[in-house]
Amino acid sequence: MKSLLLSEYSHLEVADMPFPAVAPDEVLVRVEACGICGSDAHGYDGSSGRRIPPIVMGHEAAGTIESAGSAVRGFAAGDRVTFDSTVYCGACAFCASGDVNLCDNR
Ligand SMILES: [Zn+2]
Ligand SMILES: [Zn+2]
Repeated sequence: MKSLLLSEYSHLEVADMPFPAVAPDEVLVRVEACGICGSDAHGYDGSSGRRIPPIVMGHEAAGTIESAGSAVRGFAAGDRVTFDSTVYCGACAFCASGDVNLCDNR
């Protein structure tokens, strides 16, 4: 699949990446639109330290579910979706208070 790859700081390239395997509790989204966030701009040049190349860029997107894992309920292939790309643990004090953006284990 086509991806925008930050192969090194200040260098982007369109790269062919393998399709990711879909775990039982995951869905695969065919991205149809993707924004460029301020954190992407600062990650691109390395000034924020929040992107470490090589990394596929883009975390604010919308698209269509391509496939759903066997344990997924409530979503199916063909559903139009967007998502919160924040990965958080759900167990730390910040997560318990609903401040998942501050998670100790992001
Ligand atoms: Zn963002
Ligand atoms: Zn947490």
